Amino acid sequence: MNVRTRFAPSPTGFMHIGNLRTAIFEYLVAKHNDGKFILRIEDTDQTRKVDGAVDFIYDTLKLCNIDIDEGPKVPGNSGPYIQSERKDIYKKYALDLVEKGMAYYCFCTEEELEELREFYNNKKKPFLYDGRCSRLSKEEIDEKLKLGVPYVIRQKMPKYGETEIEDVVYGKIKIDNSILDDQILLKSDGFPTYNFANVIDDHLMGITHVIRGKEYLDQTAKYNLLYDAFGWEKPTYIHVAMVLGEDGQKLSKRNGDASFMDLYNDGYLPHAIVNYLVLLGWSPDSNDEIFTMDELIEKFDETRISKSSSQYDVKKLNWFNAHYIKQLSLEELLNITVPHLSSSYDLSNKSDEWVERLVSIYQNHLSYGKEIVELTEMFFKDEICLDDECKTFMEQDGVSNTINVFKDEISSITDWNVENISNAINNTKEKSGSKGKMLYMPIRIKVSGVMHGPELPDTIYLLGKEKILERLG
Ligand code: GLU
Repeated sequence: MNVRTRFAPSPTGFMHIGNLRTAIFEYLVAKHNDGKFILRIEDTDQTRKVDGAVDFIYDTLKLCNIDIDEGPKVPGNSGPYIQSERKDIYKKYALDLVEKGMAYYCFCTEEELEELREFYNNKKKPFLYDGRCSRLSKEEIDEKLKLGVPYVIRQKMPKYGETEIEDVVYGKIKIDNSILDDQILLKSDGFPTYNFANVIDDHLMGITHVIRGKEYLDQTAKYNLLYDAFGWEKPTYIHVAMVLGEDGQKLSKRNGDASFMDLYNDGYLPHAIVNYLVLLGWSPDSNDEIFTMDELIEKFDETRISKSSSQYDVKKLNWFNAHYIKQLSLEELLNITVPHLSSSYDLSNKSDEWVERLVSIYQNHLSYGKEIVELTEMFFKDEICLDDECKTFMEQDGVSNTINVFKDEISSITDWNVENISNAINNTKEKSGSKGKMLYMPIRIKVSGVMHGPELPDTIYLLGKEKILERLG
């Protein structure tokens, strides 16, 4: 089988990590099977459309190393790949269904529908269109069409029996046909609804595996009825449970939740995000967690996708990101950190070498690029302020003696380099009798204001002799 999957985002100019995870799953299913990954832009809801959103989607996928085989900018045999450019196609198929008696024109006005909605509301029942237009005679329909009365086209649902859905993750599901609404396929502006367009496009684009959010699972009964009405083969469905936000709520654009670009701009590495996201709702058959894209392609198996929703956990993402940051070249490391440093601090009197050294000593301490700003605050601020834990530590016996000895050692350094600073610390150990934590911690706290950080001699070197003496008091 020529496996073909598609990522079908709506061009809203925003991609949260839940959307991105779907794209990754689609990509991995395609590539695991030597298949094709198609990008389709679902812009039938023109009110939500944002200019430049297609570029945004391209940039995101490109950064994540997700190659598009066919899409708006990659020619293929199933285009156009933007739904608004396929209007005529949908109309043709909608009319075909009308012809077959599986769909009908509906001329109901907004007022009539409102009345109907109120009727159901009063009965505390979900709104179902009552099918009144399906009973219009051919003459009545022709007359209205001739007069140019606005219309939509609705799918005619069976009123009895059940429709079955077969899903890789959720198994067999039966939906009672009596709850299915005669849904709109074609709107009065000539645009299709998602519910119609996805079926037409998935079929015409030869999509073999549909991977999408679980919120579409029940709706799939309606799609299956459309496939049956056309006599088309259904794709393999893989519905995936939601990724919830850190607060346990649905991720939403409005809350600015976990947007891929925000994470990227904060210095998260795209592959770290991809690696983290794949494991959000999918597990390999081992305890391994770190995977290259090639390894993911090799190992991905859709039958191991979880039925339950997963929760976005920034701490876990930080763990992945820190892992990948440790492997960056100096140049890559500078790229994700220096823009943040220079927008927060004045670097004009710092040499490139100083900045490079600063960033390098933090390579093993960073969870994300922007974090460099808070971690290096002590290098840019005149005053350091100790928290209670540091203060308590500094009140211990022997601490002030260690600091005094160290200050003398630092004062006597004529050639300011890391080796001489290390010697100064060793001499302090000899002369003060302090060792281990009681040697390093007082010095670290006094010069940097924190209890943990990169190698002490490196930190002291970069802070500079003048600042160190000032802080040693
Ligand atoms: N345009 C739909 C969305 O953004 C896609 C759903 C699907 O993959 O079929 O939710």
